[in-house]
Amino acid sequence: MQRTHDRRGFLKLAGAAGVLAASGCAGFGSQPQARVVVIGAGFGGATAAKYIRLWDPGIAVTVVEREAGFISCPMSNLVLGGSRSMDELSRGYDGLRAHGVQLVADQASGVDTAKRVVRLARGGELAYDRLIVSPGIDFMFDQVEGFETAMNAGTVLHAWKAGPQTVALRKQLEGMRDGGVYVLSVPLAPYRCPPGPYERASQVASYFKKAKPRSKVLVLDANPDVTSKGPLFKKAWADLYPGMLEYRGNSKAIGVDARTGTVKLETEDVKGDVLNVVPPQRAGDIAARAGLVTANNRWCGVDWRSMESVAVKGVHVLGDATLAAPLMPKSASMANQQAKTCAAAVVALLNGRQPSAEPKIVNTCYSYVSDNEVIHVASVHQWNDKENTLTTVPGSGGVSSARNELEAKYAWSWAQNIWSDAFG
Ligand SMILES: Cc1cc2nc3c(=O)[nH]c(=O)nc-3n(C[C@H](O)[C@H](O)[C@H](O)COP(=O)(O)OP(=O)(O)OC[C@H]3O[C@@H](n4cnc5c(N)ncnc54)[C@H](O)[C@@H]3O)c2cc1C
Repeated sequence: MQRTHDRRGFLKLAGAAGVLAASGCAGFGSQPQARVVVIGAGFGGATAAKYIRLWDPGIAVTVVEREAGFISCPMSNLVLGGSRSMDELSRGYDGLRAHGVQLVADQASGVDTAKRVVRLARGGELAYDRLIVSPGIDFMFDQVEGFETAMNAGTVLHAWKAGPQTVALRKQLEGMRDGGVYVLSVPLAPYRCPPGPYERASQVASYFKKAKPRSKVLVLDANPDVTSKGPLFKKAWADLYPGMLEYRGNSKAIGVDARTGTVKLETEDVKGDVLNVVPPQRAGDIAARAGLVTANNRWCGVDWRSMESVAVKGVHVLGDATLAAPLMPKSASMANQQAKTCAAAVVALLNGRQPSAEPKIVNTCYSYVSDNEVIHVASVHQWNDKENTLTTVPGSGGVSSARNELEAKYAWSWAQNIWSDAFG
């Protein structure tokens, strides 16, 4: 049986490397307890940790997370618009602890995939039988000259990881003069949350309409056109923010100059009062350190039936860090659904069974085009033996017929539900 083999293997390694115990190691019967370590308690990692414990309480699950608490990127654009607070988007990890998940408040600094141990920044190691890596994204700062220095000085922000930058960007918007220009630079796809930038532009315009009506939102998009829900966003902008929100495609930022308030494009320089530049992205650093990156030096290829890395056996990758299947967005919905596929597969494998041969997962992304009107896009992705990947189910999913207030209720409920599902 695989499980017996994995457990024996772990014990040998634990002895040889002098690794830290990953949990209380109660074990059952005479068998040592199988150990899963999860890096990252965001949407992917938290969901996977919780569901492994729900589906096999005999497995010890340890989560390594460097942040003191969780702050949701979904709904964080509403903080910029002024209709929601950071507190409403924040959750603790006690819900995970109540499921018997052990939390380690540290940064995973490396992984020895041969010895099956995760190294911790503050010292020590955690041994695993299976490792789940869900670190989200990190930024390719070198692609936008001057950005990292400006960001560290607090002058030009991305706010593409919800947290202190979200609060700081809101302050910049509040401090901007009426008649000023807010510039939002969008990187080439793929990036985290395809409709996110356009929701953000809508939210800032909604705030300006109420508080600074002579101001302007300028979207500089590296992509040729709006990458998600394009016609719906454009109609909302024309109806709700005429003359206030300008969209320019094929406008890739290659540099910033905070001193002169300039975003440098390939062809021209654009000036603004608040510069919000979202740099290109790649899988979170730890994925590269663990040898999981397989595509373009950026993303991690996985077998979608188990979420196991195609590069390293025994390691699973979730969420934004993965090389997406066709038409699959990098979203919290997807990370949460992938995490359940992964949890089921890990439980099966550690119990000597094969994972499901035909997983199906569903995505829904809501976007607020104003305080009270929302649009959605949905898709269903299923395993396709011929293509050896997940492909969308013909006729499934779709977009809203028009922006509407009912979907604003659905959107806020979706957020409450996914936060509870991952952290409750
Ligand atoms: C503005 C905005 C709006 C969005 N809106 C939506 C939406 O409406 N709907 C939707 O579905 N998605 C939305 N998203 C996308 C969503 O936030 C991401 O797709 C989702 O967070 C991905 O989950 P993840 O588990 O891959 O990463 P994350 O949720 O980012 O979790 C990664 C975790 O890993 C931790 N971590 C990373 N490296 C280490 C390490 N070495 N050691 C320890 N801890 C580590 C991080 O601290 C973090 O907690 C939005 C994103 C943005 C930016």
